Amino acid sequence: LLEIKSLKKKFANNTVLKGINLSIKAGEVVVIIGPSGSGKTTLLRNINFLEQADSGTMVFKDKQLNLANLSNEEILWVRRHTAMVFQNYNLFKNKTAIENISEGLIFGQNRSKKDALQLAKKALDSVGLLDKQDFYPAQLSGGQQQRIGIVRATVLNPDIVLFDEPTSALDPELVGTVLYDMKQLADQGQTMIVVTHQMSFARNVASRVVFFADGEIIETGTPSEVFDHPKNKRTKQFLSAIA
Ligand code: ATP
Repeated sequence: LLEIKSLKKKFANNTVLKGINLSIKAGEVVVIIGPSGSGKTTLLRNINFLEQADSGTMVFKDKQLNLANLSNEEILWVRRHTAMVFQNYNLFKNKTAIENISEGLIFGQNRSKKDALQLAKKALDSVGLLDKQDFYPAQLSGGQQQRIGIVRATVLNPDIVLFDEPTSALDPELVGTVLYDMKQLADQGQTMIVVTHQMSFARNVASRVVFFADGEIIETGTPSEVFDHPKNKRTKQFLSAIA
């Protein structure tokens, strides 16, 4: 579904991505773990072009893209087929839950307001949040806001959902509710790339775990390979530091 080759990115003289190769098949859940500041967020932001890479290529849905030189059309096309869930939810504060969800359907997918509201309601209902449809973000808990953020992303039916540390702004007791929704999505076959510090999620839900450090993929494998039998010294150090 997606194949990234030799993706490089620097900010001023700080090289943040040193030539990333990463591929993901439809239905896979790739979980990226690694130390803070290693470039994980930057990698996601390069995949949906919130940042522009310095060099590299990407094949997405059989379309060949030069990451350093994209047309506006290509950028819009990629954004239409991907969705991002942010660390700080990024909901529109002056819009209700249902308006947050229907917005992308109306303006991104040209659906009628009536259809969009109907789809948004159905999606809210499927995660048990229909009773919150008219609440503004400030009236919702962080966990509920993030769950709305996930609905907003997935209602668009994206080929890939990119999760950027979706639970790291949450109070500990709310983390499980968000991870539960993410696991449901994974079970439904949603292709996802998830940057997280939640090792239990990585272990239990990932098809593949990627250990990322200093702008490079150091090691990748099944959860059991990476967690139980890490090969690289850096991976071992990281895992023992967080244990
Ligand atoms: P964390 O787990 O703490 O979120 P991360 O692995 O996601 O970390 P990034 O947020 O990708 O790391 O940041 C990697 C490096 O890139 C950091 O040194 C950061 O300061 C730098 N960086 C990120 N975005 C920018 C930017 N827009 N301008 C300049 N430097 C940036």
